[in-house]
Amino acid sequence: MRIEYDYDTCIGMFQCVEEWGAFERDEDAGKAVLADSEEDGEGVFVREVPEDAELDAKFAARTCPVDAITVYDDDGEQLVP
Ligand code: SF4
Repeated sequence: MRIEYDYDTCIGMFQCVEEWGAFERDEDAGKAVLADSEEDGEGVFVREVPEDAELDAKFAARTCPVDAITVYDDDGEQLVP
């Protein structure tokens, strides 16, 4: 499973931080930070989701009020939102 986080879309409500520990607060920027991710050159941070974190990652994507977080399965099919 892969997760993508769109930095520009994020409005810093930090609900995702409560759902999955890979999301951290950057209070100064008012943005979430996705740990261990790589930026794709267009402000989207991408990383693999470990199997034991798949549920948490999906909850993080589901809870984001502006759909800044998207989760894909290994075939590239969008799962959430
Ligand atoms: S829930 Fe969405 S808007 Fe809020 S900090 Fe996370 S990514 Fe940003």
